[in-house]
Amino acid sequence: MSIHTKYIFVTGGVASSLGKGIVSASLAKLLQARGHSVTIQKLDPYLNVDPGTLNPYEHGECFVTDDGAETDLDLGHYERFLNVPTSQANNVTTGRIYQSVIEKERKGDYLGKTVQVIPHITDEIKNRIRLLAKTGNYEFVITEIGGTVGDIESLPYIEAVRQMKWELGANCISIHLTLLPYLSTTGELKTKPTQHSVKMLLEYGVQPDILVCRTEHKISRDLKNKIALFCNVEPNAVIEAIDASTIYEVPVLMAAEELDLVVLNKLNIPVSEKVDMSSWEVFLGKMKDPKSEVRIGLVGKYIELKDSYKSISESFIHAGVANDTRVKIEWIHSESITDENVKEKFKGLKGILVAPGFGNRGIDGKIAAIKYVRENNIPFLGICLGMQCAVVEFARNVLGLKDAHSREMNPATTNPVIDLLEAQKKIVNKGGTMRLGSYPCNISEDTKAFEVYNKNKVSERHRHRYEFNNEYLGAFKAAGMLASGINPEGGLVEIVELKEHPWFIGVQFHPEYKSTVVNPHPLFVSFVKAAISVKDKSLKSKV
Ligand code: GLN
Repeated sequence: MSIHTKYIFVTGGVASSLGKGIVSASLAKLLQARGHSVTIQKLDPYLNVDPGTLNPYEHGECFVTDDGAETDLDLGHYERFLNVPTSQANNVTTGRIYQSVIEKERKGDYLGKTVQVIPHITDEIKNRIRLLAKTGNYEFVITEIGGTVGDIESLPYIEAVRQMKWELGANCISIHLTLLPYLSTTGELKTKPTQHSVKMLLEYGVQPDILVCRTEHKISRDLKNKIALFCNVEPNAVIEAIDASTIYEVPVLMAAEELDLVVLNKLNIPVSEKVDMSSWEVFLGKMKDPKSEVRIGLVGKYIELKDSYKSISESFIHAGVANDTRVKIEWIHSESITDENVKEKFKGLKGILVAPGFGNRGIDGKIAAIKYVRENNIPFLGICLGMQCAVVEFARNVLGLKDAHSREMNPATTNPVIDLLEAQKKIVNKGGTMRLGSYPCNISEDTKAFEVYNKNKVSERHRHRYEFNNEYLGAFKAAGMLASGINPEGGLVEIVELKEHPWFIGVQFHPEYKSTVVNPHPLFVSFVKAAISVKDKSLKSKV
């Protein structure tokens, strides 16, 4: 175990959704920019073993790591900010903690002792926190505690924080994120909810070292002094977190407030001269002031909650910046699309992305969308279910297999162009039983996919049960849909593309999980580029 690892806890108070994940990721970014190695962990206080079985409407997207963990979407932010992959160890839920404690109890590991929240659950929580430090890879482990202080569910986590602060002394600090509400009638920011929230933490035995205060207005020096006095923190440890126009601005705002310096001082770490955030600032500048704009349609069935497609929309931001443009996403409900209205709905859109998903709802709309873009040379990117729908559409409308379908949607189809592998047919559990995580993919030369990636071997993350049915491979190829990317181990189709189309690619994996600020994903970059060129053509034709 690396004894040098420093632990930073981030708790939240007053209200939920204040952006603990973004503040944690921003602090990590600043520490990284000073040359430190950092990882971030999210502890989620719900009883699901992982977020994989949660409805996207409840919790937004499920983010998948290289090692196949189905995790909270905050891990996506961590990766996008830090450009360092996370893993199962970076996301722990109460369900998982209890599962392992109960497993140990059944094995007899507790030697007849009464198994209790304290110490058994709290010890398990502490083990999970230390696990990341034990890798020896990180100087800092930032642990974000989900939920809001005062929730019954977060209590064991706060107790674990208290114990670790006691055990680790100067190697551990805690940051509390709160809200300063603004009363427009009197024109004041109010500090009382923050004071109460800190009092509640103190009741649990945790004195926060730093307060990060979300606010709509600037916090005056006087107000910072007042908060400091009432909450027992140093005045320079009261950090203003003013509302930002984009999450990518938060690291810069936190740098201006010197959050990283306060953290380093409190942990007694010598501070290097200056933090180098120049490339981040270039990214931010391009994002805020793009040269052009391109409208791309995102067809999905969970569009009421945009967080369901978080990694996709962020990938478009990265790819937009890479192309000096702003991608304006038009969210289109797949259930609203028909062969009759698709032309009208897609008017002015220069590219269409058909999103991942599960189940039958909205499938006909996705197929109608794909037929239209295929026939009208509109750039198309199909992700996972989107790729499967492209295969079904092609089978029906080009190969003439009228009842072609995915076995998921129609178990009785005589042409299951998307099917379950034999080995998967016996699986009944829903949680964690899909093809999950990173798999290699070999790309054939002389294909669009090769042009996009500019290499033969890539590795991408998966989250699905069904696969392209290789019995149809020959027929598809003969009719112009190529399998340009193949999994070298099992021969599974990973990428399909159309030969006679300017940009039509379907991928069985999820490229969006690997797009970061530093490394925008080549598929998104190329797709956006193709969309821009459609735009230029239509502009020229108007002249
Ligand atoms: N429902 C499809 C499958 O399980 C696609 C999943 C997805 O889009 N992530 O194969």
